[in-house]
Amino acid sequence: MPRRRRSQPRRTIGFPYRRPFRKRGRLEPRPAPGPYAGQRGSPFGGVRRRGRLRLWPILLFAGFLAWYWLSHREEVPLTGRTQLVDLTREQEMALGLQSYQEILAKSRVVHSGAELEVVRAIGRRLAAVAAAEDPGFEWEFNLIDAPQANAFALPGGKTAVFTGLLPVARSDDGLAVVMGHEIAHAIARHGAERIAHQKLARYGTLAVGVAVGEMDLQTQRMLMGALGVGTQFGVLLPFSRRHESEADWIGLLYLARACFDPREAPRLWERMGQAGTGRAPAELLSTHPSHETRVRQLEEWMPKALEIRAASGCEPL
Ligand SMILES: [Zn+2]
Repeated sequence: MPRRRRSQPRRTIGFPYRRPFRKRGRLEPRPAPGPYAGQRGSPFGGVRRRGRLRLWPILLFAGFLAWYWLSHREEVPLTGRTQLVDLTREQEMALGLQSYQEILAKSRVVHSGAELEVVRAIGRRLAAVAAAEDPGFEWEFNLIDAPQANAFALPGGKTAVFTGLLPVARSDDGLAVVMGHEIAHAIARHGAERIAHQKLARYGTLAVGVAVGEMDLQTQRMLMGALGVGTQFGVLLPFSRRHESEADWIGLLYLARACFDPREAPRLWERMGQAGTGRAPAELLSTHPSHETRVRQLEEWMPKALEIRAASGCEPL
């Protein structure tokens, strides 16, 4: 049998002529319509073909993805990585401010004392050297009385340190390592990028949901489950880890520019690893590289950081 029956004359009459349909690349005549022809979900099978993947939602999503990629690309300062962000700076800063006010309202904020002064002084020193990449953040540094060994910086420069970090940080240099890392997250717009990824993941899930909508329920569930796991482990989590590494690198540069001791960075993350912390509810990102990876990378970057520090007119270490 020839693969394509091109020689067959094209008939132009309308009803009841039905076009042959394509099945696995071959043209075959349509099955004869049953008594329930045309009725969706006919109990006797009818003409409804089950188990078929709809392609159009996937193509539509692919087109959207291409448009989204082309129209929402930004470059991360200091690393040159291309990222996807669709919030404006103003939207991002407004979101950051709102979250900050909510967190501070629910927390025990330290209003005075030497520790607060240290946090503010380190913050100002780091923000000053981030000026070249700073799009006009209104920096604010607060100390929250809470046991977790962490800190956060929200879009717009709203930063807070938890008192639980102070004993792990041990020194100004140690505290600057964590604050520089958090400031780097804000400068690199990681929060806004994560929002864009989550939006794409939602749209992608919706597209696939429509694409498999005609398949039997069990297959649908299986495919959607696999997609969820694939998105989480194949896209979202690797991006989170990339953000962490990027914040480590930018934070290290800020330490060097601000004349802190960059060599404290691997030591600090080692201590954080031993303390079994490194995550806080307000941390912008959900997963982190292992402390070993982090320490190894920081050691690799150290010669460059020390070079930058020397070139920044700092006192020798
Ligand atoms: Zn982080």
